[in-house]
Amino acid sequence: MNTAKSKQLYKTACGFMPGGVNSPVRACKAVGTVPLFIDHAKGSRIWDEDGNEFIDYVCSWGPNILGHCCEPVINAVKAACDKGLTFGACHKGEITLAELIKKHFPSMEMLRLVNSGTEAVMSAIRAARGYTGRDKIIKFEGCYHGHSDGLLVKAGSGLMTQAIPSGAGVTEGCTKDTLLAKYNDTASVEKLFEEYGNEIAALIVEPCAANMGVVPPEKGFLEFLREITKNHGTVLIFDEVITGFRLSEGGASKYFGVIPDMTTLGKIVGGGMPLACYGGKLEIMQCVAPLGSVYQAGTLSGNPCAVAAGIETIRQIESIPNFYEELNRKSAMIENAIREKGLNVNRCGSLMTVFFNDESVKSYDEARACNTESYGRYYRHMLQSGIYTAPSQFEAMFVSYAHSDEDIAKTIEAIESYR
Ligand code: PMP
Repeated sequence: MNTAKSKQLYKTACGFMPGGVNSPVRACKAVGTVPLFIDHAKGSRIWDEDGNEFIDYVCSWGPNILGHCCEPVINAVKAACDKGLTFGACHKGEITLAELIKKHFPSMEMLRLVNSGTEAVMSAIRAARGYTGRDKIIKFEGCYHGHSDGLLVKAGSGLMTQAIPSGAGVTEGCTKDTLLAKYNDTASVEKLFEEYGNEIAALIVEPCAANMGVVPPEKGFLEFLREITKNHGTVLIFDEVITGFRLSEGGASKYFGVIPDMTTLGKIVGGGMPLACYGGKLEIMQCVAPLGSVYQAGTLSGNPCAVAAGIETIRQIESIPNFYEELNRKSAMIENAIREKGLNVNRCGSLMTVFFNDESVKSYDEARACNTESYGRYYRHMLQSGIYTAPSQFEAMFVSYAHSDEDIAKTIEAIESYR
């Protein structure tokens, strides 16, 4: 495979941006390659600057559940662009999108549109603190909730790939109220509530962890979190930035049948544009300015072009019969091929990760114990076979509706030829 142009661009980019990238997860050091520079994409495929074509399972890290350049979405964005890129003022689309979100996430009685998942989570936690008048929060090792200061403690995603336990530049003051629990370990949560019970404002969790690789919740884990937070007056926040509109149209909450107090959404809800949202119980959201004194704002929040992409993406999902059944069917075919190869795989709906660990992976520690060099070998093999996957053991593979049976067959062939 000729990647001369990408290599040259990478060299140039390194002179401008740290590591040549605008987000560390795009760096390919962990898998021993350089990042490919993408020229364009369509459906299930992306093409790099050298003209190499790949079947894409990164899907922009989740947003592209309809594949790339879904025509109705592109047309909706184009039409919105023609009316003005941003007004910094109210417009009808905001209501339409909020209605669509609330229809699928009825527990989001009131919500706010923001620009990124990081912002959504940061704002949800602030609202929970304002509402409860408490300071402490619980997060889980290996869960990633964006790069706001208080959450960069044993976080997953790029921090796990680069083995950064807690981000430098984050003061002790910022993280002193962040308590750490172990995913799928109820005792670790009980212990924190015993010690800090009435000081805990919020417990935030990825209802299906996908930033230490995909680690689904064990049976009863989410129900346990619901119960213990309720008993302590702690706000339960589901970070559904990845799982929202991914596991079902009502996200993980509907998929697992557990209702949180607050939810954060991102990625799919913005249809590939910078848009995210947070929301939840009315009495909590009424604490947010201008109704209450929890401040949160944004010049570009509710941006009309991003809102148009979100609306059309959700409408497409709604209009396609058996949308999630189809996604799951295709994903299961890939999962089976990986299993038949004798490799370890975790799958939840259209999210999955191949783990280079002999044991099944149910926790952060088990995920971390994986052989990342073997993952690198697998990654390079898949890339050479025309399959573009995440350049890290600790990320998910995203299957989209645009992946055809032919794409899946090609992917399975690539898995089968892995040695
Ligand atoms: N929460 C979760 C669960 C995420 O996976 C991510 C990003 N991958 C974020 C929050 C942060 O979102 P963003 O990158 O849009 O800031």
